[in-house]
Amino acid sequence: MLLGDLPPGEKWRNFELKALGLRDFARVRIDQPLNPFELARFANLLVIRFDQIEGLSDSAREHLLGVASEDWSGGACSLPNGMKLVILNPTHGRSRTNATLMEEICHVFLGHQPNRLSIVTRDDRGKVMNRDYRRADEEEAYAVGAAALVPYASLKKMLLEGRSSKEIGLHFRVSSELVQYRMKVTHLWREFKDSAVNS
Ligand SMILES: [Zn+2]
Repeated sequence: MLLGDLPPGEKWRNFELKALGLRDFARVRIDQPLNPFELARFANLLVIRFDQIEGLSDSAREHLLGVASEDWSGGACSLPNGMKLVILNPTHGRSRTNATLMEEICHVFLGHQPNRLSIVTRDDRGKVMNRDYRRADEEEAYAVGAAALVPYASLKKMLLEGRSSKEIGLHFRVSSELVQYRMKVTHLWREFKDSAVNS
């Protein structure tokens, strides 16, 4: 691998290498979209649909899919057999779901230990959220997951070709916001923001 294939900064270089390891494991080429649902099976993650949950009252179901649907993207818990169960919010689109599931997969692959009790905290935008892992682990899982979905070398190549963040998002099946987040953390933002956002 050439050094130019990795983003600047030791921290982000390490995240990128872990993400590339995940892609290697999934045998998906660097310029191809990664399907987290296929990867989940290797990670011992059992992904179930919301409508498969039994014992939820109608009002709870209505609440979670209605007024509260923006407050959660997914939930995970451990099963006695060592597998992890993930439930994804069915009201969120596929690109958002891909990022959520990828984060859960990364927690498993990176060996993060969940907090014994999930912590209710506020995110950067002041929104209340549940935190199941240490803050540093949450950052790493999200960052590595996003890097696995949109690898730096491919992102840079597509930006050089003049592709927009929306087009890149469609190609990798993620939101244009995630593409822009990747551009910012890998220092591609300043150089390419105009062509990526306006075209
Ligand atoms: Zn997490």
